[in-house]
Amino acid sequence: MGCKVKFWGVRGSIACPSPEHVVYGGNTSCISVTTDAGVIVFDAGTGIRSLGGELMRLGVKEAHLFFTHTHWDHINGFPFFTPAYVPFFKLHIHGARLEGPPKGIRHVLSAQMESPNFPVPLAIMQGIASDEDFDVGSVFTPYDGVVVRTGRLRHPNGACGYRVEAGGAAIAYITDTEHLPGQPDGNVLALVDGADLMIYDCTYTDDEFPARVGWGHSTWQEAVRLARAAGVKRLAIFHHDPDHTDPVMARIEAEATAAWDGAFVARDGMEVAVG
Ligand SMILES: [Zn+2]
Ligand SMILES: [Zn+2]
Repeated sequence: MGCKVKFWGVRGSIACPSPEHVVYGGNTSCISVTTDAGVIVFDAGTGIRSLGGELMRLGVKEAHLFFTHTHWDHINGFPFFTPAYVPFFKLHIHGARLEGPPKGIRHVLSAQMESPNFPVPLAIMQGIASDEDFDVGSVFTPYDGVVVRTGRLRHPNGACGYRVEAGGAAIAYITDTEHLPGQPDGNVLALVDGADLMIYDCTYTDDEFPARVGWGHSTWQEAVRLARAAGVKRLAIFHHDPDHTDPVMARIEAEATAAWDGAFVARDGMEVAVG
């Protein structure tokens, strides 16, 4: 019982595969949650390419892919997600209706693959079994015994936060979101309430935050405050700023774990058993 969470991409904004990003990783947002009933994927940043390879190796034939939003760092690995091309695969895509004119998740994913941006169109991806747009607040049951809840986040163009409940465990995936200092976000608190694992947008530190107000991101210190307030068991520091090279991340890791021993820094390829 329980779930396995794997981090395939932990970086925000832009992939940064460089000698300065070796320890924590340079791929953009993608995580998988493997339950007894099936696989759920969140976001399709560059990390999703390696996940595709693993799903193929393991013979997995179905997955549900939920998007927080469609900023580049959350979609641009999608054209490299092999299972989406495989006719026997069943990929179910879920995109939240956010701010601005409704374009639809299929349109947005398709647009980034249009000529001359990419050599093949989305239309040849025979592994896509379904795609849907949903209103934030919707509750899903992608597999028997697995519940996915959604909530609105504070981010330019909007974003959707998630909570997965399966096998007695609760996992919250909260990125990209900006906090108001001194005012814990009620939507976030509801999603992370008592969670076994909270994955949270820690792009900045509290020292950096004042110069980045309005950019749509939060801090590891706010994550610790929320985790404590909501009775969260473990916190994954996530969506690292590309400017936070390995030495900077090591310092953040030391400070965050000293501040709260439930905290850890997510790295590309890291696996966490939950529940
Ligand atoms: Zn992002
Ligand atoms: Zn974003």
